[in-house]
Amino acid sequence: MLRPLGRLPHLISHANPCTSCGACCASFRVSFYWAEAPERGLPEELYGPLSPVIAHMLGTNCKSPHCAALVGDVGRQTRCAVYDRRPSPCREVEPGDDKCLRARAAHGLAGL
Ligand code: SF4
Ligand code: SF4
Repeated sequence: MLRPLGRLPHLISHANPCTSCGACCASFRVSFYWAEAPERGLPEELYGPLSPVIAHMLGTNCKSPHCAALVGDVGRQTRCAVYDRRPSPCREVEPGDDKCLRARAAHGLAGL
């Protein structure tokens, strides 16, 4: 979710679909093994428990998910406030994969 801009954002940002999307951060429950949060340094105000061993990003465990770390407007301009500390589910989604395309479609965005 939300690919990085890389080292030369002024040169490649036009090629990064995530910076004008954010749909996958506002479509799914983001849950992960609880120990990831302190290991990655996730701010405590952004995650909560789902079970004794599973945590989730706040805002994503509901009918209309919207991660508490998502900044900006979906489909316009977005960024992850904790990009370097984001949990594993966020690192697995790739632009153009099935989850990405389902999220984009759910927000009325074209495929990649
Ligand atoms: S839905 Fe796809 S394009 Fe949009 S932020 Fe997620 S990975 Fe990037
Ligand atoms: S932590 Fe960041 S990358 Fe993960 S769902 Fe939230 S806004 Fe998206």
